[in-house]
Amino acid sequence: KLSAIPTTVRTTCPYCGVGCGVRAQVGQDGALAIAGDEAHPASQGRLCVKGSALGETVGLEGRLLSPMLRAGEGLHEASWAEALDKVAGGFRKIIAEHGPDAVALYVSGQLLTEDYYVANKFMKGYVGSANIDTNSRLCMSAAVAGHKRAFGEDLVPGCYEDFELADLVVLVGSNAAWCHPTLYQRIVRAKEARPGMRVVVIDPRRTATCDLADLHLPLKPGSDVWLFNGLLGYLATQGALDSAYVQAHTVGLGEALDAAGEAAFLAPGGREAALLDVARACRLDPQQLLAFYELFANTEKTLTAFTMGVNQSSSGADKVNAIINCHLATGRIGRPGMGPFSLTGQPNAMGGREVGGLANMLAAHMELDDPSQRAAVQAFWDAPRMADKPGLKAVELFRAIEEGKVKAVWIMATNPLVSLPDADQARRALEKCELVVASDIVLGTDTNQLAHVLLPALGWGEKDGTVTNSERCISRQRAFLSKPGQARPDWEIVCEVARRMGFSGFDFTAPQQIFDEHARLSNWQNGAGSQRRRVFDIGGLAGLGRAEYDALEPVQWPVRRQGEDTQRLFGDGRFAYPDGKARFVATRARLPAHLPDAEFPLVLNTGRVRDQWHTMTRTGRSVKLAEHVPEPFVDLHPQDALLCGVKAGELARVTSNWGTVVARVRHGGGIARGSVFMPIHWSGQTASDARVGAVVNPAVDPVSGEPEFKHTPVRVEPF
Ligand code: SF4
Repeated sequence: KLSAIPTTVRTTCPYCGVGCGVRAQVGQDGALAIAGDEAHPASQGRLCVKGSALGETVGLEGRLLSPMLRAGEGLHEASWAEALDKVAGGFRKIIAEHGPDAVALYVSGQLLTEDYYVANKFMKGYVGSANIDTNSRLCMSAAVAGHKRAFGEDLVPGCYEDFELADLVVLVGSNAAWCHPTLYQRIVRAKEARPGMRVVVIDPRRTATCDLADLHLPLKPGSDVWLFNGLLGYLATQGALDSAYVQAHTVGLGEALDAAGEAAFLAPGGREAALLDVARACRLDPQQLLAFYELFANTEKTLTAFTMGVNQSSSGADKVNAIINCHLATGRIGRPGMGPFSLTGQPNAMGGREVGGLANMLAAHMELDDPSQRAAVQAFWDAPRMADKPGLKAVELFRAIEEGKVKAVWIMATNPLVSLPDADQARRALEKCELVVASDIVLGTDTNQLAHVLLPALGWGEKDGTVTNSERCISRQRAFLSKPGQARPDWEIVCEVARRMGFSGFDFTAPQQIFDEHARLSNWQNGAGSQRRRVFDIGGLAGLGRAEYDALEPVQWPVRRQGEDTQRLFGDGRFAYPDGKARFVATRARLPAHLPDAEFPLVLNTGRVRDQWHTMTRTGRSVKLAEHVPEPFVDLHPQDALLCGVKAGELARVTSNWGTVVARVRHGGGIARGSVFMPIHWSGQTASDARVGAVVNPAVDPVSGEPEFKHTPVRVEPF
């Protein structure tokens, strides 16, 4: 039974980036009742099946409830003092012997902003290394890079209301019906109310989201830049560009048009030939392609939402910029019902970005490569040794661990042995690592089995803090359950280690103190000489007392003054670059890093299923959620199955150049010939090792470091 204060608490769902408001109440019988929060602007009372089942996913079974230390093959319980001394002592020794870049943190979009803030301050301001990266690298770092290149800062221009106000919603690489369900429901309702609204889904798979689509473009995996470059060329030749907007508010259209192949469109009789070229490159029906281009050209209120299908690519940042280019060129940004919109995967990927939780960011949207901003953060933190160069990004980090360059890693709230690409490499890395520390809520994950120190963390419903969703809305996660065992909040654990390492600046005793410091840093001086104008600013939320912090209502940043928030950015045509102008990026289409061949003739695409979350450490506890998809599967076209000699319902082995995984064959997931789809959720602790990450290729986008989860050449064989 759960114990708790028997009142209804308003909190936020811990799963996807929509960030729905939840009302939670523990009854006298110990059962947890969950309902949607009508007052939360992101969800207006809606919850999807995962959010509705939250009550089934809490509880103490399988929880890590006390610190543990490894002795030989086994783990034994230890006191907090012993465990924290082991971590602090280990980090101190390795830093003294090998320098600050020999240690690293690998954190998570599951952390609350306060946890993230303290972890980032610890590494970048006190250890003196930027070797802190996050599992958000795996899902949205391409969007970050794309935003920074286009706008001068990592900024999502629009809000969820734009999905309802748009006359054309384009969903690219997004199965929103399963992965952002309540936001998808808002589109469904808007379309019911305004049947003239159009929805285009661009996805190699015919997913559940396509049920809403007026047009589905099943493009060839990896060909998005061809598609959006073609759109830019088409818009230019149709006179559909907003020249006045481009002139006043942007730089670089000419180069972008060159890269997009405008010349081919402009040649005599070239438009039809150019369209055919794009259709061939994207393996699309030319008539359908033209229908999409015409719809986009003729619909002022167009919203283009994109997510993992765009980001998880070795050209992810270019895909993002190819989309943004089309919106800048038509001036469709920053106004109601229009703009490019990045849908984040995790509940607090955005909060992590705000505090600089990526290895190439600083804090408060300041930049590691800007000496004046570095100096400003150092002064604010009173930091003894600031990181002065970007740290290792997720995939690089685990390579550096295997190579012995990074000798200690502290993993928080994530399970990289399941979720990283080339996950067997990650296992080899941790097996070799001198000191592996894991903070987690559960004991028996693949990753935790290799940890030398396990630190019990509080989970959802037990801890207090804030998260930021895809529309820049900061919401409170509130505690309503008793703290189990000896578990502690992540921020407190980091502070304890920092203090043991002799670092001042970690005397926080409550999350609102951390939030206050984060808010004050957000409008701290830009640094003398800095040319950058930061948009991220929540200075209006500084100085909240405990009661005000506890009562904080959802609020969209920037919040420059208390009581004010900002629904949309760039409505005034001013961007974050010093000259106030947005940048077109010349995106040259390129093929995925690894192409199918005779040995590996099919292309593996990975993603989520509707009722599971990440590596299932929570959703896996719900019987109801397991009913939807009870076991790992590989979905492929029946003709490909025939050629591979595998049958629906039987087990098959899926092998790439990097590893092998076994799963049950099925059809019906809308898979085109030449592709296969596998879900990401299952771990190495199922009957057969079902970590699809072991198969995924480790190629990354050179701009963002995001891995190519959507395009790994594989073969499928009978098991
Ligand atoms: Fe909302 Fe996403 Fe949670 Fe579902 S999983 S309730 S859509 S935040």
